[in-house]
Amino acid sequence: MSMADLDRQVVDCRACPRLVAWREEVARVKRAAFRDETYWGRPVPGFGPADAKLAVVGLAPAAHGANRTGRMFTGDRSGDVLYAAMHAVGLASQPTATHIDDGLTLIGTRITAPVKCAPPANKPTPEERDTCGAWLKQELALLRPTLRAVVVLGAFGWQALLPLLTVAWHVPVPRPRFGHGVQYTLDARDGGPPLKVFGCFHVSQQNTFTGKLTPAMVEAVLAGARDAAGI
Ligand code: SF4
Repeated sequence: MSMADLDRQVVDCRACPRLVAWREEVARVKRAAFRDETYWGRPVPGFGPADAKLAVVGLAPAAHGANRTGRMFTGDRSGDVLYAAMHAVGLASQPTATHIDDGLTLIGTRITAPVKCAPPANKPTPEERDTCGAWLKQELALLRPTLRAVVVLGAFGWQALLPLLTVAWHVPVPRPRFGHGVQYTLDARDGGPPLKVFGCFHVSQQNTFTGKLTPAMVEAVLAGARDAAGI
């Protein structure tokens, strides 16, 4: 299966009844500011080249962001912070992401999430995380030949991703702990190149509006991961 095949299958997924109901209700009711738009209202596949050297792993689509536009981190404040930082360190063609046809391309980087449907209150259940993890596991297996580094945005993504990395890499037990600025190197199961894993606070408004996470902090982690990935 190619990455394009995987992405096509993801957008048709209806495995989590609660999330299917929520994503579709949000798309029907809409936010007043977007009432003239047609919401995507479906799972949001990963965004970026299938031979990416670097992956950025978030949490899940935002109800009125990616669930509206159909592309990861597009059309919301979190994306404003993330793409500005990615552009600043040479990983994105432009600093803004407003809609799926805005011309944005990513350089050697694929953005994805462990849960691909917008969850109520941004809180997927452990069961939903584990169900959707099957998609991310396949995505990681397809990226494996080129993937050299991962930036994980937030503790939820960290907890979801690390068990899945065993598909190709040795993950120590006990598992490495999440923190902003942490770095770990995981050896490959097949003896190939290792994977460098970087922790970064999530680019949520809760973190960026309070100053817990600044643009400079995001850029520093992304720049380190870019260099580790050889981009
Ligand atoms: S969260 Fe993932 S597994 Fe659940 S319905 Fe959406 S795409 Fe499917």
